[in-house]
Amino acid sequence: MQEFAGVIRNLTSRRNEGFPIGWERALMYKAVKIYSTDWRTREHMSYAEAVRRLKRQGINTVMVLAGMEAGSAAGSYEPRAFRDALGEAGITYWSVCNQFYDPQALERFGSIPVDQDGLAAVQQDWYLGACPTAPAYLEAKRNETATVMETLDPDGIFLGFHRFPGFWETWLPDVTEEDWQEFCFCSRCLRLFRRDTGAELPQAESMQRLVIRENLADCWTQWKCSVIHSHTENLRRITDEQRPGLPLILNTLPFSSPISRRYFGQDAEKLSDLIDIFELMAYHQILDQDAQWVIAVSGALKAAVKKPVVTTVQARPAYLDGFHAGRGRRRQISSEEWNHMINGLPGLVDGIAVFEWGQLLDVGRIFPS
Ligand SMILES: [Zn+2]
Repeated sequence: MQEFAGVIRNLTSRRNEGFPIGWERALMYKAVKIYSTDWRTREHMSYAEAVRRLKRQGINTVMVLAGMEAGSAAGSYEPRAFRDALGEAGITYWSVCNQFYDPQALERFGSIPVDQDGLAAVQQDWYLGACPTAPAYLEAKRNETATVMETLDPDGIFLGFHRFPGFWETWLPDVTEEDWQEFCFCSRCLRLFRRDTGAELPQAESMQRLVIRENLADCWTQWKCSVIHSHTENLRRITDEQRPGLPLILNTLPFSSPISRRYFGQDAEKLSDLIDIFELMAYHQILDQDAQWVIAVSGALKAAVKKPVVTTVQARPAYLDGFHAGRGRRRQISSEEWNHMINGLPGLVDGIAVFEWGQLLDVGRIFPS
């Protein structure tokens, strides 16, 4: 915490000398992700206190994980009370509705993904994604999203994990496409691919996987993107019926368009007919990239989608130990890196978000005002 608080102090104390004039006006969204209830359960902050803290930190938008109330650790957390307090203070509230991440639901819906070798996915660290073609799973996610709209009346629906499975945070520069464990080659996905595209495939599934990878990569990529697009269309229909004009925000991968499309079925450009705002996970230390990379991927996404883009930057180094040890990730985010990102983004994108608020509770100010 100290080192990051230091970075933030450095940022804000330099604002009168180091920041371009109008820096803060260039950003429509000054945001944090709120993915844990520690502020409530461990720090015992009231809703009013939490809102005051966010205001003092210069935050005008929050992305709050829906469903945290279901966890036993959540204790006295009441999402609607928090949401109302934020609304009264004029802070924009986006509900994070995770789509293809729900480990407890996989067995029930037959949604365990299968890779190119026919192996069922196993949990890696905390991650286990969902196959995106099980009809009952898709219906459950549509219903969850509708319920969130009814119960929380959010200012936007944030589609988390809105892609084919893959633990993308482990795709560091030394990983090749050949190395990557690709999903989803389950029997249902193979059957639907053949039905939807008319592709000629051999009888045995093991051969189908091989032929798809070797000979039908373009067709396969388009099909994967259409699966994600079609689920987005269904969600759009629900939000338009219940709350016309409610923004849909996409949790966007920070990879080049060919990689995002091929391996994750996420085609940001195509999705821009349904998505209103793109949130980009530009976690440079996790992917072992430098601060300039954050600027580059943000600019590339903005140019591709021509819609508002909010770039999320890391507050603290992560993925250093246990499962992630030995990958060469840097153990610090320096104030130079922080300033490079923070100074380079206004004017290029429409907002900056910081991951994650639980690590920032004792920071006085995150964004200058
Ligand atoms: Zn599948």
